[in-house]
Amino acid sequence: MEQIFPVMRYIYPVELSIHSDDFFMNEALKEAVKAYEAGEVPIGAIIVCNKRIIARSFNYTERLNDVTAHAEMQAITAAANYLGGKYLNECVLYVTLEPCVMCAGALSWAQIGGIVYGAFDTRRGFSTMDQKILHPKTKVTGGVKEIQCSDLIVKFFNEQRKL
Ligand SMILES: [Zn+2]
Repeated sequence: MEQIFPVMRYIYPVELSIHSDDFFMNEALKEAVKAYEAGEVPIGAIIVCNKRIIARSFNYTERLNDVTAHAEMQAITAAANYLGGKYLNECVLYVTLEPCVMCAGALSWAQIGGIVYGAFDTRRGFSTMDQKILHPKTKVTGGVKEIQCSDLIVKFFNEQRKL
């Protein structure tokens, strides 16, 4: 029998791999949902090292009354604690929203290996300023599960306006 879509048959399992960006962004989205349920701006982050999740966090700025308690900042601290070292050059951060300048600066200090983000932040994202803020070796990917990531944030702010 003729194989009509040999390529599709090969690609599909790869797309669904537990090591894909989609898979890990889904995990970051689960953290964002926890933030949403806690009444925080719903942004979630995870850090992956050797294909394992070593840190999970979400935005905690309301509960801690701390403008620096972004999901990324806490994930950096948790990952460094887990690894017993401050540099995260072997790690990839997955975060549902493009990091702000503060978080990009912290990720630069941590020498993070990669950043994968979901929704773009055209107002306060680090790319509105200068990409050089990151460590030169950091690989950046944006727009992974963008719609799901931004929908949650839009939903949150729409509900806040109604209060
Ligand atoms: Zn931030």
